[in-house]
Amino acid sequence: MYIVFDYLNSLSLFAVFLLCLIENIFIAFSAIFIGFAVDGLLKQMKQLVSIKELYWGLSTIFLNTVVTFTGYLLYKYNFIQFELGFTISDFVVDFILLFIAMDFLMYVFHYIAHKILFLNQFHELHHEYDSPTAFSLFVLHPIEVMGFGSIWLMLLYLGEFSFYAIMAYLILNVMMGMIGHLRKEFIPDFLKNNTMFKWIANTGFHVEHHQNDVHNYGFYTKVWDRIFGTLK
Ligand SMILES: [Zn+2]
Ligand SMILES: [Zn+2]
Repeated sequence: MYIVFDYLNSLSLFAVFLLCLIENIFIAFSAIFIGFAVDGLLKQMKQLVSIKELYWGLSTIFLNTVVTFTGYLLYKYNFIQFELGFTISDFVVDFILLFIAMDFLMYVFHYIAHKILFLNQFHELHHEYDSPTAFSLFVLHPIEVMGFGSIWLMLLYLGEFSFYAIMAYLILNVMMGMIGHLRKEFIPDFLKNNTMFKWIANTGFHVEHHQNDVHNYGFYTKVWDRIFGTLK
């Protein structure tokens, strides 16, 4: 990982920004294409994604790039530190910490976004879709994208996390986002009653939130919804 950062530091800031843009385009397109493929809707993609969604999707990809680039600048100028060496214990502990912290923080801010009228006007855009597709994951108001991005960067500011754990968390974040915005339940029928899925957010859990926004505010788990009585 040291080689990657040495290479990035040798580039101009504009070149790093372009790399961040390419990375975010790749992540978004992978999640969208995999999501539509899982739903068996690849051929209907053109009909299912409106121009308005496309516009907001591109805006989200651009702003996610701004967040990634800001993270790089904060690292470059020593406001945040990463652990670039790999040890299995650092990786596991930091991954669990990031997962639990982001799951809790996103639950809290998602709940607030629904309860405070001023903030709800921004989150409403994402709720225009009762029957979301993988593309809906990227239909977000700029204020919301920057809000979640700021929470993420603030968390990274608080500790020196393993860069490998950060990468693993980011991959899981996109996967869970995609799973929550499918037309078909991602969890196979035979696993639905498994105890683990009483705690992990499945497709139906988040789709239910799109249809009735008074419950299911969690993103990765149902833990906080269970604790705070907002689970349906
Ligand atoms: Zn959603
Ligand atoms: Zn919501």
